[in-house]
Amino acid sequence: MSFELSKEQLMIQKMARDFARKELAPLAAERDEKHLYPADSLKKMGELGLLGMLVSEKYGGEDMGTVSYALALSEIAAACASTAVIMSVHNSICCGSIEKFGTEEQKQEFLVPMTAGEIIGAFALTEPEAGSDAQAIECSAAKQGDHYLINGTKRFITSGKNGGVTILLARTKPEGSDAITAFLITPDMPGFKVDKVEDKMGQCASDTVDLVFTDCKVPVSRVLGEEGKGFTVAMSGLDAGRIGIASLSLGLAQAAMDEAVKYAKQRKQFGQPIANFQGLQWMLADMAIDIEAARLLVLNAAAMKDRGENCTMAASMAKCFASEMANRVTGHAVQIHGGYGYIKEYPVERFYRDARILTIYEGTNQIQRHVIARELLKKGK
Ligand SMILES: Cc1cc2nc3c(=O)[nH]c(=O)nc-3n(C[C@H](O)[C@H](O)[C@H](O)COP(=O)(O)OP(=O)(O)OC[C@H]3O[C@@H](n4cnc5c(N)ncnc54)[C@H](O)[C@@H]3O)c2cc1C
Repeated sequence: MSFELSKEQLMIQKMARDFARKELAPLAAERDEKHLYPADSLKKMGELGLLGMLVSEKYGGEDMGTVSYALALSEIAAACASTAVIMSVHNSICCGSIEKFGTEEQKQEFLVPMTAGEIIGAFALTEPEAGSDAQAIECSAAKQGDHYLINGTKRFITSGKNGGVTILLARTKPEGSDAITAFLITPDMPGFKVDKVEDKMGQCASDTVDLVFTDCKVPVSRVLGEEGKGFTVAMSGLDAGRIGIASLSLGLAQAAMDEAVKYAKQRKQFGQPIANFQGLQWMLADMAIDIEAARLLVLNAAAMKDRGENCTMAASMAKCFASEMANRVTGHAVQIHGGYGYIKEYPVERFYRDARILTIYEGTNQIQRHVIARELLKKGK
C-alpha cells in the first residue's frame, strides 16, 4: 500500500495551491464580508481545468481522478471555503450527474460550458418541508404533452442565484420508488424565480437561495436520465459530493492550523512566545493528529472511488470525521489567537464560521452515521 502521491497529483495540488494563494486568499475576507460571488475567480478556475476535474476530455474535462480532485479542492478551501463549496457542488454532483445520465445533446449544451467555467451548476433537492427526509419532496412536475409544468419551492440552494443550470428533483407521481424525476433548469425559463437569498453565518460569498417554480414550463428534452429515476441521479453524486465536503473540511482545518502555528510563534506573553506553553503545544498536537487522520480518510475514500470500488461507507466516514474535525480545529485556532481570534481582522474568525455548516449540508452527520451503520449492518449479514 502506497501513501505516496503521484507526480501528476503533486502537480495538480501545487497548481491549485498557487492559484488559491494568489487569486483567492487576498479576496476571501472582503468577498465574505460583502457577500460577493467569486465570478471572476470561477472563470479562471474553469480555464485551469478545476471545474471539470472528473469529466472526460471528450466534454472538455480533465478526467484527473478523485484523489487529484480532493487535493485541489482542499487547496481552494484553504483560501476560500465559499469558492470551494461552489466548486464541490459543481464538480461532484452537477458535472458528474450530467455526464453519467445526460443525453449527448444535454452534454454539449451544459457539460461543455460547465467544464470551461462558463456556467456553474446547482443542485436542488432540499425543500422547506423536506431536508434529511429527501423522499418527502413535494415540488411537482405534471406532464402535459411535450413539456412538464413544475410547481413548488426549493430551499437553501447553493449557486441557485448565480449558477447557469440547476439539477432539480421533482415529483412526477404522487408516490412510489419511481415518483421522482430530475430536470435541467435554466434561469430563462418562465415561471422560475430566485426568491429569498439567505443571510448566513459563514461561506457568505456563495449564494444560498430559495428557488420558486410557478407553472414553470420545462420541455421533455430537459429530463435528466429517465422519468421516475430522479433518485438514482441524486444518489449517484453523493459519494463524490461527500468526498468533496470532506476535502473542503480538510483544507479549511489545515489553513486554521497554519495560522495558529504562525500566531503562537509570534505572540508573546509572560516574556516568551505563547508557543512555548505546553497547554498550547498539546492543542496544536491534537489539531495535527486530527488533520492527519482526516486526510487519510479522505484520500482513502477518493482512492477507493478511483479504483471503482464501493466507497459509500468510506465517503460518509470521511465527510463525518473531517467536518467534525474542522469544527474542532478551527475552534482551537480561535482559542490560540485569544481575543484576536474573535476579531474579523484575523482569518481564523472566518474559518470558524465557515466550518460550522460542514456537519450539516450534503447530508447531516446524523444522516452520515445512519449511512455508515446501514453499510456496517449489511456487511454483517
Ligand atoms: C449553506 C447551505 C447550503 C446548502 N446547499 C444545498 C444545495 O445546494 N442543495 C440542496 O438540495 N440542499 C442544500 N442545503 C440543504 C441541506 O442539505 C439541508 O439543510 C440538510 O440536508 C438538512 O436538512 P434540514 O435543514 O431540513 O434539517 P432537518 O432534516 O430538519 O434536520 C434537523 C435535525 O434533525 C436531524 N435529523 C433529521 N432526521 C434524522 C434522523 N432520521 N435521525 C437522526 N437525526 C435526524 C438532523 O441531522 C438535524 O440535526 C444547504 C443548506 C445550507 C444551510
